[in-house]
Amino acid sequence: MVSSFKIAALSAIATAFGAAQFVKRDRKRDHNHRASASEQRWEMLVQHSSSGVIVLDQKGNVTFVSDAMERILGHPVESYLGHTLEWICNSIDWPTANEKVLTMLADGSQSVDFEMRAFDADIETHIFSIVATDMSKLDGDDRTLLNITEVTSSRLIESRFHHAANNDPLTLLPNRAAFISEVDSVLRRSSVNGENVAVAVINIDDFRLINDGYGTELGDRLLVELALRIRLSISENDTVARLGGDEFSVLLASGCSEEQARRSLEKILAALTRPLLIDGQSISIRATIGLAIDNDADVSATTMIRHASTALDSAKAEKRGQLVIFNDEMGAIVHERVKLRHLLRAALDQEQLRLVYQPIVDMETGEIVSLEALARWTDPKRGPISPATFIPIAEKANMIDELGNWALRTACKQLKAWEDAGLTGFSMTVNTSGQQLLRHDFIEGVSNIINSVGVPAERITIEITESVLIDDTDIISSRIREIRKLGIGLAIDDFGTGFSSLSYLRRYEFDILKIDRSFVVPLIDEGNKRDREIVKSMIALSQSLNAVTVAEGIEHPEELAALKSLGCDRAQGFLFWKPIEADDVPAAINTPPDALAA
Ligand code: C2E
Ligand code: CA
Ligand code: CA
Repeated sequence: MVSSFKIAALSAIATAFGAAQFVKRDRKRDHNHRASASEQRWEMLVQHSSSGVIVLDQKGNVTFVSDAMERILGHPVESYLGHTLEWICNSIDWPTANEKVLTMLADGSQSVDFEMRAFDADIETHIFSIVATDMSKLDGDDRTLLNITEVTSSRLIESRFHHAANNDPLTLLPNRAAFISEVDSVLRRSSVNGENVAVAVINIDDFRLINDGYGTELGDRLLVELALRIRLSISENDTVARLGGDEFSVLLASGCSEEQARRSLEKILAALTRPLLIDGQSISIRATIGLAIDNDADVSATTMIRHASTALDSAKAEKRGQLVIFNDEMGAIVHERVKLRHLLRAALDQEQLRLVYQPIVDMETGEIVSLEALARWTDPKRGPISPATFIPIAEKANMIDELGNWALRTACKQLKAWEDAGLTGFSMTVNTSGQQLLRHDFIEGVSNIINSVGVPAERITIEITESVLIDDTDIISSRIREIRKLGIGLAIDDFGTGFSSLSYLRRYEFDILKIDRSFVVPLIDEGNKRDREIVKSMIALSQSLNAVTVAEGIEHPEELAALKSLGCDRAQGFLFWKPIEADDVPAAINTPPDALAA
């Protein structure tokens, strides 16, 4: 809309000198002409203005151009004369500009505004904001006055702002806000025909570890590279965006079937898992994808993204590195997990967690040689929640460092309290998640805790599960060396369950090998030769590496007898002790278990 201020200003200029006269002056550089006083006033006004002025005759041909136009565009003033606006106007803008002026002339409006791009003498584009005024409606003259203001730089700034508001600065992909509005508009269009809309959320597995291990700068470069790979894997009708962090999202062309979506996304997964070479380092990553497909007219972009994220969460729990498609059932499970995550956060803040201690005994003497600290959480409303449920939640929600540090500090303090009370002769075993171990400041944290509490490192053993050992061998083996350098013992937990290739074990220095309960259970059947052989070779392996063997989860005397005969060193299980409260430990220490007395 032309502002009333602009119209008033133009009318003032036009009437100041008499529009009929000025439009007839074709050569404005003719300083020798004998101009009337009003013409001279007008000339001064126009030529000193930073805006340009062009006058068109009835046919739309230029009859006057002010100096400003020559200053801005570099074309000599004379070169415009006799041409229509098309001569300088960008061909894309010309039809609209022409149409606007013609419409104004035909209907009752006095002026009209539009934008127009024009090339200068160096073929650079300028953007002009133009107010065209039909002089005939002011004082009967039949010409058109164009008041021209250059807006190139403000439009560029606006477009940069627009770009910044809609794009992720690192990967230059559309950001979450831009993606949501794109998905919403596709949903509106597709719902008319009941066509499928498919939205996928892609997350890079363990990206935090890459940032921790290699630094955020390399992490950023990796993200740029991954963004490019996704872009190259999709078709031109698909859209990829960065939702934030290590999360990308893809909107597949509307109307695609589940099968087509699956194929496109499998392609992305394959592209992402090809090793990347950054700074001469070969880095391999894996990604997981959650997909939501819908053709419901009422569904919104945020709901689609939430469903895809739900599918992603569900994939992260069970099918990392794969594509999982959302279903309603999944929604309920994930909802529950989110709720537990909030409850666990509050429990950690309010110190609702505690440790119980399960004795590990010597097979020969029955003496308690160590106490394994196991976390317990009792929610005021829901009652006890198993660590098998909350430890994985803590791992996924970045709470495991806090939980792990809390467990280590609490266990150390307890050990110290018992020591002060004269109870010694046993060590403390604390579970550690693989995620904690991969953190660059892990060792520092552990040594701070044991030093500040004041317990000897030799009385602490850290348990890590076997599956950790096959993940990132360089970091893990250096952490293991550092742990042992501190004087802390190291136990490999759940041995036999982590798809172990026995050869990798030789790469790590450890003190204790804990045979998983699943290998102990079959030993109840004395005739089961095969399982006995397996346990026998596990014990032999442990011995060959100078490690102490512990069997966990022993419930029956038959299991115990078999393990004893196979040369297992230590035992843990309900047959001896269930995990017990700290207050019950002193009594336990002084009571040899009956099971071994036999
Ligand atoms: P885990 O380290 O393998 O711990 C042994 C689990 O087996 C414990 O379960 C223990 O109560 C159970 N258990 C011991 N003896 C027997 C038996 O004779 N029969 C049977 N059926 N089970 C037995 P819990 O306390 O539920 O802990 C489960 C897992 O949660 C632990 O497995 C450990 O991986 C994890 N966890 C517990 N506390 C912590 C912690 O503070 N930090 C970390 N990172 N993980 C923890
Ligand atoms: Ca353990
Ligand atoms: Ca275990």
